[in-house]
Amino acid sequence: MEFTRKPWAEPYKIKVVEPLKVTDREYREKCMQEAGYNTFLLRSEDVYIDLLTDSGTNAMSDYQWAGMMLGDEAYAGSKNFYYLEENVQKYYGYKYLVPTHQGRGAEHMLSQALIKPGMYVPGNMYFTTTRLHQELAGGTFVDVIIDEAHDSACDHPFKGNVDLNKFENLINKVGADKVAYITVGATVNMAGGQPVSMANIKAVSELAHKNGIKVVLDATRAMENAYFIQQREEGYQNKTMQEILREFASYSDAATMSGKKDLLVNIGGFVAVNDWDVFEELRNMVVVYEGLHTYGGLAGRDMEAMARGMEEAIQDDYMASRINQVAYLGNILNDAGVPIVWPVGGHAVFLDAKRFYDHIPQEQYPAQALAADLYIASGVRGMERGIVSAGRNKETGEEYKPKLELVRLTIPRRVYTQSHLDVTAYNVIELFKNRHQAKGLKMVYEPKYLRFFQARFERM
Ligand SMILES: *Cc1c(COP(=O)(O)O)cnc(C)c1O
Repeated sequence: MEFTRKPWAEPYKIKVVEPLKVTDREYREKCMQEAGYNTFLLRSEDVYIDLLTDSGTNAMSDYQWAGMMLGDEAYAGSKNFYYLEENVQKYYGYKYLVPTHQGRGAEHMLSQALIKPGMYVPGNMYFTTTRLHQELAGGTFVDVIIDEAHDSACDHPFKGNVDLNKFENLINKVGADKVAYITVGATVNMAGGQPVSMANIKAVSELAHKNGIKVVLDATRAMENAYFIQQREEGYQNKTMQEILREFASYSDAATMSGKKDLLVNIGGFVAVNDWDVFEELRNMVVVYEGLHTYGGLAGRDMEAMARGMEEAIQDDYMASRINQVAYLGNILNDAGVPIVWPVGGHAVFLDAKRFYDHIPQEQYPAQALAADLYIASGVRGMERGIVSAGRNKETGEEYKPKLELVRLTIPRRVYTQSHLDVTAYNVIELFKNRHQAKGLKMVYEPKYLRFFQARFERM
């Protein structure tokens, strides 16, 4: 074998292993039927390679586990909280911190604090829980991502960017006082883990602040975003991830965070702000919904693990192996002609179900069907990110029909080896060869909120 480039490897080795259950097709067929063709309703022990999500599925390091033993489980003023606060200030630069049990706890409180009924909340593509909390607070989400983000084949290096014209048009249309804030998600999960450039967030910040509008960063994967800036943006090649993240976050006024992604833990999140008044309100609200402001629904040990995870995730060599592992899977599939979102994003490879199952109309949930078929064929679990996830318009009751109809194969951090990804790629390619036999689904049970989690389907 000849190397076309210098190989990379994970900057860690394995100390503890968890056995996987191997099952046969007949067994998986039965499991999938019982789960209503929804991969969220499978039992995890029936899954071979679990690419459902990168949320809370991270492997913690020995340094983090050691930190778990240093949990200060005091109700108030735990030393782990102060350490976490110090690290949030150091790595992200926000002044005030309120921990939450996970990201949506942060979104809930920030939405309630900043949105008044009738206000608009622009953002670079919706995220499920983010938009729902904005709507529950009486706001209306407006998508202001660049058009390229909706085109799965477009080769733009920063497909997560905000379209400044769309943002400005909204301000002109509804008036700046009707814009609660703008959310900038980086990277953009629903667009395929696509990054936002430094130049873009800087310009967004200037336009927003000129109009008295706050910028809220969805910092869930902002460290992964920093890596893309280092690799792709002029002038950042020689900066460390730590420097890039600090500059990036400096263009925002607040952040919501799901620590279950970037921060290498299994549970945890926070909201961080620079504005004392907003902090006061959040600190008051958190005691109602999450817990006292120095733990926010987390054990002391969980805050310690998150603070330590932050230190590990910001390392350049760790992040290079993380992003390159995802790219490894994406490149194999792309080379084999499988339609995927391009370029490959930070946390997942997204199969383009519209092109993969081009004979199944969107009303028959092609991505949902593809995720089910992949599980049945191989025991690999992915998830739908298309019409089912998009849900319904709250006014008209009609289904949103997103341009992107995707199956997400999400790579948990530090969990799987390259061989697991080879097995995954092999099975996706086999499925692609036999794609014309696939059938669509019909929905037979639809929950009211975030339907993709619990909806049930039958084969057409
Ligand atoms: C996961 C996620 C959230 C919500 O966080 P949870 O910890 O799952 O509640 C918010 N925004 C983005 C971009 C996410 O990926």
